[in-house]
Amino acid sequence: MRLYNTLKRRKEEFTPAHNNDVNMYVCGITAYDLCHIGHARSSVVFDVLYRYLKHEGYDVNFIRNFTDIDDKIIKRANEVGKEASEIAEKFIGEFYVDMDRLNIERPSVEPKCTEHIPEMIALTQRLIDKGHAYATPSGDVYFKVRSFEGYGKLSGRNIDELESGARIAPGEEKEDPLDFALWKAAKPGEPFWESPWGKGRPGWHLECSAMSEKYADLPLDIHGGGQDLAFPHHENEVAQSEAATGKPFANYWVHNGFVQINSEKMSKSLGNFFTIRDILAKFLPETLRYFLLTMHYRSPLDFSFDALEEAEKGLKRIYSALNQIDEELARDKWKKSPFPEELVKELDDLEKHFAEAMADDLNTAGALGHVFSAIRLAGRVAEDKNLRKSEGGRDLFARIKADMADWASVLGIFERKPAEFLLELRDSRAARAGIDPAKVRELLDARAQARKDKDFARSDAIRDELAAMQVEVHDTPQGATWDVL
Ligand SMILES: [Zn+2]
Ligand SMILES: [Zn+2]
Repeated sequence: MRLYNTLKRRKEEFTPAHNNDVNMYVCGITAYDLCHIGHARSSVVFDVLYRYLKHEGYDVNFIRNFTDIDDKIIKRANEVGKEASEIAEKFIGEFYVDMDRLNIERPSVEPKCTEHIPEMIALTQRLIDKGHAYATPSGDVYFKVRSFEGYGKLSGRNIDELESGARIAPGEEKEDPLDFALWKAAKPGEPFWESPWGKGRPGWHLECSAMSEKYADLPLDIHGGGQDLAFPHHENEVAQSEAATGKPFANYWVHNGFVQINSEKMSKSLGNFFTIRDILAKFLPETLRYFLLTMHYRSPLDFSFDALEEAEKGLKRIYSALNQIDEELARDKWKKSPFPEELVKELDDLEKHFAEAMADDLNTAGALGHVFSAIRLAGRVAEDKNLRKSEGGRDLFARIKADMADWASVLGIFERKPAEFLLELRDSRAARAGIDPAKVRELLDARAQARKDKDFARSDAIRDELAAMQVEVHDTPQGATWDVL
C-alpha cells in the first residue's frame, strides 16, 4: 500500500522493517474527561488502518498508550477532590465504553504511563549520560533541543524561528527556551515518584518514547496520531528516541486531519464542542463511524448534525440493499440462465477498485464509492425479471454479499444483520422525531382491525393520522411495517 508519510511530505510505498511484522504506535488519550469527536475520528482512522493491515496479511503489533498522569488530570482531580489515579481510571473506563460502541478493536498492547516510570527514568538517565539532557537544581530534567541535530524535521519547523518565539517562564531553570521537560519536580500536593533527581513525575512526551522502545523493536513502522500532535509532541518524541538510541524512531508518520464544527475550530469556549456521548444520544454509533469514513483521513472533517443525517441516509441505503439481497437469496428455486458475463466483469472491476482505493493511502471515501456501485449493481440484478430468478442472478447476489462482508470487516461498518440494524435505525430516527413506537404499534393494530371489519374510512383516517406523525406504513404479506418519513 501507499501511505502519506508526514516525515517525507509525500505518499510512499509502505514496507515494514521486518518482513511481515508491523509495529504501529498511536498516541492514546490523556484520561481526564470524556472523549470528543476529534478522538472518535483518530480512533476510527487508526482502527481501519489496523484492520486493513491485518486484512492484507501483516502481523500487526498495535501499541496505544494511556496518559494516566498529567497536569490536566491533576487539575481535574483537585477540582473534584479526588486522587489523580481515580480520575484516570474513571475516564479510561468511559473511553472503553465509547470505543466499544464505535466498534474499535482493542490494540495488542495498551500500556499506561504510571506503570512505566522505571523505563522513563532509565531513558532520561541515558539522555543525560549522552549529553542530551540536564537536571536543574530544583529537580527538573530538560531535553537540550539544540543538542539534537534533526529537531524540526518531522513538523517542518525551523529551529531558529522556534527560538525567536520561545520564552523561559518565570521560575523555570532552562538553559534555552527551546528545551522541554523530561522529568518534572513534584509541586506540593502532586503525585510523585522517587528518582535520581528527587521526587517528581515524567513529562508527557517521554512516555511514548519509553513505551515504544519497550514494546517494539525500533524503528517503529508506523507512528500515528492526530495532526495536532505533530508538534511539539511527536517532534519531541523523535528527538528523545533518536538521541537516546542513535536509530531512526519511526519510518512512517501518519497524521489524521482536524474535525471542525460548521467550518469552525471546535472549542469549549465557542460552545461548539461535542463529546461522543452527545452525538450517540441522538445517532447510532455506526452512523458516526460511517460518517467519519466518508472523508479522506487527512482532510479536515466538517461535522454538523445535518451532515450526520446525510450519512445516516447513506448507511440506510447500504443496509437496505443488503436486506434486499438476503430476501432475494431466500428463493429456493433458480432458473438455468446464460452466464451474466458483463455484470460479472463489472463486479471483478469493483473488487479491484475497492482494493486500489484502500491501498492508496487508505482512501475510505473512494472505497465507499465502490460500495455504492456494488449496491447499484445488485439493484440492477433485482430489477431484471429474468436474471433475478436465475442461477446467474443468484451467483451475483451471493458474490456481492460476500464482497460486502469482506469490505465490512475492513471498514468496521455494515457488519450487522441488516433486518435487525434497520429496525434499530428506525427506532433511533423515531426517537429524534419524537415518535413513540408503542403508539405507532397501537394505531397499526387498530388499522388492521378496521381493515378486517372492512371499515375503510377508519383505516384511511388512521393512515392519515400516522402520516401526520411522520410515519409511513408499508403493507407486506406478513402485516404492516412502518418507518419514519
Ligand atoms: Zn505520543
Ligand atoms: Zn478482502
